[in-house]
Amino acid sequence: MQVIADAACCVASWAADGRQPYHGRLMHVLVTGGAGYIGSITVERLLAAGHAVTVLDTLVTGHRGAVPDGAELVIGSVGDQDSVGRLLRDRRVDAVLHCAARSLVGQSVAEPALYYQENVVGGVALLNAMRETGVGRLVFSSTAAVYGTPLSTPIDEDAPLRPINPYGATKLAFEEAMRWYGAACGIRSVSLRYFNAAGASAERGEEHDPETHLIPNLLKACLGGPPLTIFGTDYPTPDGTAVRDYIHVLDLADAHIAALELTASSDSGLRICNLGSGSGYSVLEVLRAAESVVGRPVPHALGDRRAGDPPVLVASNERAGTLLGWQPRRGTPQEMIGSAWDLMQRRAAARGAG
Ligand code: UDP
Repeated sequence: MQVIADAACCVASWAADGRQPYHGRLMHVLVTGGAGYIGSITVERLLAAGHAVTVLDTLVTGHRGAVPDGAELVIGSVGDQDSVGRLLRDRRVDAVLHCAARSLVGQSVAEPALYYQENVVGGVALLNAMRETGVGRLVFSSTAAVYGTPLSTPIDEDAPLRPINPYGATKLAFEEAMRWYGAACGIRSVSLRYFNAAGASAERGEEHDPETHLIPNLLKACLGGPPLTIFGTDYPTPDGTAVRDYIHVLDLADAHIAALELTASSDSGLRICNLGSGSGYSVLEVLRAAESVVGRPVPHALGDRRAGDPPVLVASNERAGTLLGWQPRRGTPQEMIGSAWDLMQRRAAARGAG
């Protein structure tokens, strides 16, 4: 493992601030995958709330530049149990936020071994390292893909779990591992099943390569990239395009912090919570919202359905309200698209100025 920032600095400033690791509300959190989209924005919010953060990331899909100043970056894999154990011990980590994962549905179908290796085997190594070092608090980035094609919407947490691709199956397998480790060795954990993360903070946003997601692809189309292809116009939905529940990434980050706080006080074992807005928008509705933000038509073409896409995925977010006291606050597609568009514009301007 390669340590990028000086770990001693982080630990020293933690102590110099007079903050109380573990006993107080402030935590030292290990964020795996903290150089990725959702991870890095959650790190930003954790630091803003006064917590100390160590990021563990392979940088295979994450970006070094996405890790906020103030967090220590350690380049390495969650699958390296001994090194992760040393990290947990040396940094006196209170809680782990596990975002590191492979997360492309299509890739998971083509290469299931990669998904089982990194999402399941790697995750179990992390659990073992936590068990060995006595770190007993864990929040996990799970996904609505664990439900597969739902029988009805909105989807609550007790809906049948029938993933239709290795991505969803491996996330579900890790949830099960969390459950059994909780029972056996007292790890207190929360699994957050995201619906469609969208939007950006002032400094960080979605940067996948290849980019497969709707909102970045339609904004790229506005900036002269390839026209957006709408995947499927014959779904059983009001306008024929697929409906999803979009949730602002800053709202997701707030939910992660609430979940981390919950693990300080909850009983051992696993709690599960959907994170969605409870409202669905079709692809065409998102496209129209983007046009209203950008102020011009989005170049697009109509295409066939994408394999593995269910027609409608909308969350019930009742449990998130009762368990985490969490409500999405930035709910309109315009707000989410607007934040992503602003960031793209600022970056384009900075590149122009540079
Ligand atoms: N989608 C689309 N064109 C694209 C990307 C996505 O029509 O270039 C559709 C996709 O089929 C789905 C919705 O937009 O119905 C959201 O897709 P995304 O990949 O953003 O998230 P997913 O729901 O697959 O997690």
